[in-house]
Order: sequence, then C-alpha cells, then structure tokens
Amino acid sequence: MNSTIHDHAALAGKFNENEPRVNWHDETLWWVRKKRDRMAWSVSGWEQLREAASQIKRHVLGNLHDYLTQFEQQAIQNGATVHWAADAAEHNKIVLDILQRHNVKRMVKSKSMLTEECHLNPHLEAHGIEVIDTDLGERIVQLAKEPPSHIVLPCIHKKKEEIGELFHEHLGTPAGNADPQFLTAAARQHLRKEFLEADAAITGVNFAVAATGEMVVCTNEGNADMGAHLAKVHIACMGIEKIIPQRAHLGVFLRLLARSATGQPITTYSSHFRQPRAGQELHIVLVDNGRSRQLGREDFRNSLKCIRCGACMNTCPVYRRSGGHSYHTAVAGPIGSILAPNLDMKDYADLPFASTLCGSCSNVCPVKIDIHQQLYKWRQVIVKEGYATTGKKMGMQMMTTVLSSPKTFKTAGKMGRWVLRAFPGMVNNRMNPWYKQRNMPEAPKVSFAEWYAKNNNNEQQG
Ligand code: SF4
Repeated sequence: MNSTIHDHAALAGKFNENEPRVNWHDETLWWVRKKRDRMAWSVSGWEQLREAASQIKRHVLGNLHDYLTQFEQQAIQNGATVHWAADAAEHNKIVLDILQRHNVKRMVKSKSMLTEECHLNPHLEAHGIEVIDTDLGERIVQLAKEPPSHIVLPCIHKKKEEIGELFHEHLGTPAGNADPQFLTAAARQHLRKEFLEADAAITGVNFAVAATGEMVVCTNEGNADMGAHLAKVHIACMGIEKIIPQRAHLGVFLRLLARSATGQPITTYSSHFRQPRAGQELHIVLVDNGRSRQLGREDFRNSLKCIRCGACMNTCPVYRRSGGHSYHTAVAGPIGSILAPNLDMKDYADLPFASTLCGSCSNVCPVKIDIHQQLYKWRQVIVKEGYATTGKKMGMQMMTTVLSSPKTFKTAGKMGRWVLRAFPGMVNNRMNPWYKQRNMPEAPKVSFAEWYAKNNNNEQQG
C-alpha cells in the first residue's frame, strides 16, 4: 500500500503554477465538451439511448456471474485461453507467465487503462520485457516517463512544442519541428518497426459479448489491430464489468461512446476479436481488482456501468483546471474519484472532495451514472471511517458546533467580522488556502440577520 499522503489541492497547485497552460488545458477540454454536445443534439432519441445503455448495464451487473460464465464458455469454444485474476498482482503475474513461456523480450500494447490500473508496464520492465505503448498519446507520455493524464486523451496536458522536443530526443526528428502532421508521420514510421518486430501484443477490451465470446476494441489509430494481427501471442486484458449480453447491444454503446468521448460519430476502428488466427495464441485475462467489492457497495455499484468515454472529465471544472496527474490514480476525474477509494480508501480519501458537486458530470454521462451523488456519498463514508484529514475533521467539528446553535452562530459572525476589520493579517495569510487565489472580502458592518431585521421593519412601516 502506498504510504504517501496525497492531497489533490496541493498536486493541483503544481499544475496551476503555469497559468497559461492551465487556461489552455481548460479551453481545450471545454472545446471537446462542446463537440460532444453538438453530436448528442444531432441524434434524435439521445436520451433514450442513454437510458437503454444504463438499463443494459444495470441488468448485466445484476447477472454478472452468469454473463461472465457464458462469455468464458464461448471464448474457450472459439479457441481462446481464459484466465481469471483476483487483483492487480495476479493479473501481472498471469501476463508475465505467458510472455516468459514464449520468451518474449519486446512487446506492443494498445491503450488499456486496466493495465495502467495494475501497473503492468513497470512490472514487465522489471522482468526484462520492453513494453512499447502504441497509442500515439500513450507513446508520448511513455517517452516522457509520465502516466497518462486522461483516459481518452492521455497527453492532453502536453503542448506540441514539448512533443517536438521529446521526438527530437528519442526518435531523432529535427530540433524545433513541432508540426503535428510531421510528428505524427514520424511516430507512424517508428511504430511500424515495433509492430513488425514485436513477439506479443496486449490490447484492452471495450466490450465483451457474452453470447459470442468475442471482444470489441475501439481505437482511432488502428494500433490494436496492427499489434494483434501481427504478433504470435495476443493477450486481451479486461475488467469483469466490460460484458454486454448480445452483439446487438453494441449498436447502443458504440453510438454513445465516440460521441461522448471526442464528439466523433463513431470511433475509426471498432475491431472484433473472436478467435486466434492459425498459429496464434489468444489469451483473455478477466480482472476483478476490487470490482466485486464495488458491486457489493449498493451506493457505488452504478460506477461499474462506466464505458470510459472521459466525458465527465472534459466537463468537470475541477479536472479542467487541476490536470489529470493531480488525481494520482490511473483513472482521473470524477469517475476516478469514485472508483479509487474502493481500491484504497485511505490513499484516495482526498479525491471525492475534489469536486464542486455541480452535477455536470452526471448530466453528460452516457450511461447515466449518478456521479456527483456518489462523490457526495463517498465524502460521508470517508469521514465516518475516519480517513478525512485532521484539519478537515477539526473544521467540520467546529462548523457543526457553530451552525447547530443560532446563538453561537451570531457570536461567531460578530467575532469574524471584527477580526477581519481589526487584524486582517490573521486571515489574509499564506496559511489560508482561500487567500492564495483571492482577496478576502471586506467585512460588512452588520450581519445579514441584523440588516434584514432593520430593513424589513422599515418596509413594513412604509
Ligand atoms: S463515468 Fe460516464 S462520463 Fe465518465 S467516463 Fe464513465 S461513462 Fe464516461
């Protein structure tokens, strides 16, 4: 377990040091959110689609065991080998064993947030296996030795000039060239070689169809296909919540996913993997890693409906201005703040508080997850379980005392106004996080209750 105490506000403070970058990050993600809106409005019956997706997922979560068993049987019949992993460590061990059995030294991986969640790359690298991330954004952050900061746009925090520098250093492109078209062509040449030489390919899974035992992987670059079609071994890693009952249900999810994620009508490649080609091995690793526990938490069960579109991040005013790394978890933003405390309540106790609870995330979620309500519920659980910071606990205790007695409230208000006037330095100092970004207001001469009593009486008399 990670013993570092994380503080979202402090980590966001680091990102906030560069104000122009924060503004640009904020505006770029808002632009994606607006694209999503235009796409959603252009589909008649968008709300019915959301409702259908939510109902299908609810049904699956209520019958998860049956659908997983059905999927396993079908996948085995198709010629795949199915593995079950209770947690991240078991997932990593299964993948490593397969790779070692085939003497794999170098492999390609398409974007998979599950392998990020399980910290697969460092595990394999520690055992002498080089992992090449092939999604362009993922490759960029991999070269920068950083984790992704967004589940759909992994390097959204990086500017093109920085990417030009990284490519110059690692891929030998000319210094100072930050032309996106040129850099993309350079990445394509570099990755082509990796695809051709890789001994194994790992892909994520967007949807797994129980009735047919097939998996659907959505990418815009075709990198999952390139990896899986060329390598001798294909390992597909999926969370157990990725199941849908029938192929027909893809019509609902594929229409929602791309529109919610990037405002595209459909992802460029929605590839179906059903059986290994002749001479190839196909392994499917079904991973729990806390999902059963979340399924058992009635208030948070809905979070397992997530199809990882990233729309809640693009719309979140806190995420947009604090950057994905401030969430210190593989899945950042509003949905990550619900999923992470389930994995480790103490380590992620700060995250449910990193929200304004404005509800924008719930409004855009294509599977209708009640995200902001779950964040609010996590706050209550975290405080009850004793994982809130001492400062927060003391503050809440103080507020409870003040707000539960009108007399104390009145006295505290009077004292507060007096302190602000007589000793402003006691409030306007660096210890007060509010003061870092704002000036404290000028203290009014009277309280609102006093003002109202006086003016209301005057009105009545008039
Ligand atoms: S919670 Fe909803 S909006 Fe957020 S990533 Fe998941 S599906 Fe998308």
